[in-house]
Amino acid sequence: MTCSCYGGFSAPNINILENQDGMTMAYRWPAGTVFKRIDVDVEDRSCPVCERYMHVCDHRYHRLWTFEGATQVVNRLVHCPDASCKSRGHTFSPEAELSISMPRWCIGWDVLCWLGHRRLARHWSVPQLRVELKDTHQITLSDDAITHYVGLYQMMLAARQQDPERLAEAYRDSESLVLTIDGLQPEKGHETFYVVRELMSKRVWFAEPLLSSATQEVQRLIVLARQWAERLAKPVRGWMSDKQDAFVTAIAAEFPGIPHRYCQNHFLRDVAKPVLEMDSRARVKMRRKVRGLRAIERCVLEERRQAAAPESIPPHEPSKTDDAPLSELPAAAALVPCVSSDVGVVRTDSTLEATGVAAAGEAVGEDEAGEVVLGYCAAVRGILNDSQGGPLHPPGVRMSEALQDVRDSLDRNLQAQKGGV
Ligand SMILES: [Zn+2]
Repeated sequence: MTCSCYGGFSAPNINILENQDGMTMAYRWPAGTVFKRIDVDVEDRSCPVCERYMHVCDHRYHRLWTFEGATQVVNRLVHCPDASCKSRGHTFSPEAELSISMPRWCIGWDVLCWLGHRRLARHWSVPQLRVELKDTHQITLSDDAITHYVGLYQMMLAARQQDPERLAEAYRDSESLVLTIDGLQPEKGHETFYVVRELMSKRVWFAEPLLSSATQEVQRLIVLARQWAERLAKPVRGWMSDKQDAFVTAIAAEFPGIPHRYCQNHFLRDVAKPVLEMDSRARVKMRRKVRGLRAIERCVLEERRQAAAPESIPPHEPSKTDDAPLSELPAAAALVPCVSSDVGVVRTDSTLEATGVAAAGEAVGEDEAGEVVLGYCAAVRGILNDSQGGPLHPPGVRMSEALQDVRDSLDRNLQAQKGGV
């Protein structure tokens, strides 16, 4: 088991792409790239053989560009805990990964569709695509990589008439099929690119841009999927989609009695959308309310400069704790990563507490008081700039909790200082 990679980002800095000739090319991420992390889990955690709850046994990291920026998908792989189970040799990986990207790609479906659409429907040249990706979306791809992905897009379109024998060969050892359909829109108001994938073997079966999402059009794709499955003579265990009406109707008609589930990823995204919008408005409000940090900091630094000027002694003794560098402004940045993790919020509080206690305790120099003020400022700035947190713990809620922690901490220090300086 290699669960030690939890939380850390131990993935290599290189994505290997395979191009059509089976040759590989590597994508090198620029040093210092900050990745947005998405964790994905296997939907059904019961072992297909013995139905025991399967445990996470490994993580697979996948780095890619989406229109939301550099992204790291963390796949939590699971296996049966029972060493004697027939499924033990099998590791199961999250289905949702394929709705973001395919294995080894260094771009997501959104970027792929955009590329294919611009290249084939709008006839943009490859260099033009490269420049637009760079300028508008800050995505760096080489001409080679773009050509490679446009090629893949074309291959998917062409897969409509793919060789059935090759497919049968690929599915020889599969017992059943799980299918998904997804509609991706490269640009609002344009045709939608429908992709039908099979999850057990992680294959794109076929894809087609459709101008309308009418049930009739969608049904044609579902019929096609049924024909493919029949040709393979494998049972379809289920469908997964975002359950838009056209999918629900067409799948119910062509696959009667086959379970059709929400993709957890889609479900969460749909539910989260209004929540995250509200959350973002709340954050703007909070930021507007908590202002003037810079002025406070400037004030402290100015006082300190004046105090230090006559004597030439260093303005303060470095304290034994790690908090010492807080008195320097750049340390504000150092505090940010601390604040931006869940644990960090709590730690900030106790760090402040420690500083506060020092201030409230023994003889307090003005300088140390200033340090406390700067410490608070740095913490608050970190909180205001923190945009971490997904739909389950949105950034605004985190911000509000963290600001409340700061307020509590201030209150406690004021209480402790009663009768003091
Ligand atoms: Zn088992």
